[in-house]
Amino acid sequence: MNFELNRHFPPNPFILHRSSFILHPSSLIPPLMHLTILYRGPLVSCNYGCEYCPFAKRQQTAAELAVDRQSLEKFAAWIADHPQHEFSILFTPWGEALIHSWYQQTLAQLSHLPQVRKVAIQTNLSCSLDWIEQTNPDRLALWTTFHPEWSKLDQFLEKCNYLQHYGIRFSVGVVGFLQFREAMTTLRQRLPQSIYLWINAVKAALPQLTPDDRAFFQSIDPLYELNTHHYLSLGKACRAGASVISVDGEGTMRRCHFIKDAIGNLYDPAFETALVERPCTNETCHCHIGYVHLDYLELDKVFGMGILERVPIAHQMPSP
Ligand code: SF4
Ligand code: SF4
Repeated sequence: MNFELNRHFPPNPFILHRSSFILHPSSLIPPLMHLTILYRGPLVSCNYGCEYCPFAKRQQTAAELAVDRQSLEKFAAWIADHPQHEFSILFTPWGEALIHSWYQQTLAQLSHLPQVRKVAIQTNLSCSLDWIEQTNPDRLALWTTFHPEWSKLDQFLEKCNYLQHYGIRFSVGVVGFLQFREAMTTLRQRLPQSIYLWINAVKAALPQLTPDDRAFFQSIDPLYELNTHHYLSLGKACRAGASVISVDGEGTMRRCHFIKDAIGNLYDPAFETALVERPCTNETCHCHIGYVHLDYLELDKVFGMGILERVPIAHQMPSP
């Protein structure tokens, strides 16, 4: 085990290792609010080359990656400085973040903060998993995607086993292209039944699918049809903007990733004043990370505490 958590971080009172976790005194005071944050910094690069993706095999310069790192560290420091609130955080990078040490270290750090209920990230799971040992498994979660043209199935499954061994909650998914059917079938056969395997509906391809195609996807993912809709959202109540926000590398707050208007800045001392109920201004919402917050869909009853990492209640292990 040669992973050194502190190589890039100054000594930090709230984390070092699971066994040396120190409870912050503020954890004895009830939080003022619980805020869910979808963080997407300036990262726009990936080690994989999925042909349908704008970030495929895109690279960034060392200077660009340094900006991403600084932005992430500023965000994590801000979370650490706000023990009066509770946070659930989902990192939704444009590209692959976990191949970079600063994301691994930041997730490990955040997972030990008493004010962090959950820290999750979307990933292709191509990174090494040494850093997992440094995390608090009760707070970390992963939204993993298997890319059949870029990942080796056996290696991917080995990593899933490793995550299970360390008690990390995670979902596995595949993009819903018909050419991935074999991979979906094999994954479903070889993953433990307790692991939820989702299929992301490719909305543009839906008209070309036969009823049998859709039945196949549904047989792999019982919630597949849920992901095939453009849900009417205009004027509807949505938690995005009140208890859920999107934040970029500069701290700009938006209600979600799909409505570009800024509502404030996280680093403004009065950031809380931007958090108000507002009806949705988009016609529809069709992405899991958005529509799960629409009140009328009541998807918290389907996903419960696994809403960020896309793990339905039926697949959630009881807390240890
Ligand atoms: S792994 Fe994800 S981010 Fe990377 S190229 Fe594929 S779809 Fe895009
Ligand atoms: S319904 Fe979707 S688009 Fe509208 S505010 Fe909520 S997350 Fe954003």
